[in-house]
Amino acid sequence: MYDVLVVGGGPAGISAAVYLQRFKLKVIVIAKDYGALGQTTHIENYYGFEAPITGKQLVESGFAQARRLGVEVNVGEEVLAINGSEPFIVKTNIKEYHAKVVLLATGMSRPSLRVKGFTTLQGKGISFCGICDGFLYRNKRIGLVGSGDFMLEELDVLKNFSKNITIFTHGEPLKVDVKEFAVITEPIIELLGPETLTGLKTSNHQYELDALFIAAGTPSASDFAMRMGAFVNPKNEIEVSPTFSTNIPGLYAAGDCTGGLLQISKAVRDGAEASLAINKYLKTKTS
Ligand SMILES: Cc1cc2nc3c(=O)[nH]c(=O)nc-3n(C[C@H](O)[C@H](O)[C@H](O)COP(=O)(O)OP(=O)(O)OC[C@H]3O[C@@H](n4cnc5c(N)ncnc54)[C@H](O)[C@@H]3O)c2cc1C
Repeated sequence: MYDVLVVGGGPAGISAAVYLQRFKLKVIVIAKDYGALGQTTHIENYYGFEAPITGKQLVESGFAQARRLGVEVNVGEEVLAINGSEPFIVKTNIKEYHAKVVLLATGMSRPSLRVKGFTTLQGKGISFCGICDGFLYRNKRIGLVGSGDFMLEELDVLKNFSKNITIFTHGEPLKVDVKEFAVITEPIIELLGPETLTGLKTSNHQYELDALFIAAGTPSASDFAMRMGAFVNPKNEIEVSPTFSTNIPGLYAAGDCTGGLLQISKAVRDGAEASLAINKYLKTKTS
């Protein structure tokens, strides 16, 4: 059992982990990849570096720093689901972990489906959360967008509500084994309405649907938060208190996934603040 499991190894997650380790807590960081910083080769507005540095350099230094201080850092592992509460059960593509506290630091939420009709039909038949909305579409025609493990997790939930599910990989190759359901690999080009979702068009065909669930790519902090019942605002940012707690006891969030200034300095600060609050929270639980 870990005291704290941090999802995300960017500036927010690593900053939190470094402080948490100093409080002598048992901490693990799980990071799928290099996050937002993996996309940039030129940082020159972060404190302390005379010459520009690459995002890769900064992330790798962060991993190395945390490991040197004794934090377990698993890079290349993807968190797929978080269940339960105190202890939380965190399922990755490799194994399951138990932790008293989870800190979400997964960066900015993934972009939405960029096809015609998406913006106008959001909330009108389009959903990001099977656990939240699946029951609304019992025995109805459900479309599910995704091609990997995250889609499989969502399928597991949705098949309790309907057997009439079609998977749309939106041009991606299917990466997992799905036997009982139709799989369409053509890209989606339009979602059909106009008042509520009635179906979608791919490059070759039109499909009638009552709902479309999105589970493409990697689950982000807001996906986890929504499934756990934590408050997420319309901009897909997790709502946190000034000490970075969510409305779910033991669930915290920091960095870009909570909105505000999307910069390294703010993410580092969030992580540090969250760690102080988490330490206090765990102390009150043991006293
Ligand atoms: C192109 C670009 C250039 C930028 N340039 C600058 C700059 O010059 N200066 C500046 O201050 N800021 C810059 N930023 C912004 C900065 O990168 C972010 O504000 C900062 O990285 C946010 O830190 P974070 O820890 O919240 O998230 P990220 O750094 O995005 O880290 C998120 C972490 O979560 C992990 N993760 C996500 N989902 C999962 C999952 N399901 N399972 C496991 N791990 C997961 C990722 O692998 C990653 O480790 C730039 C951003 C971009 C995209």
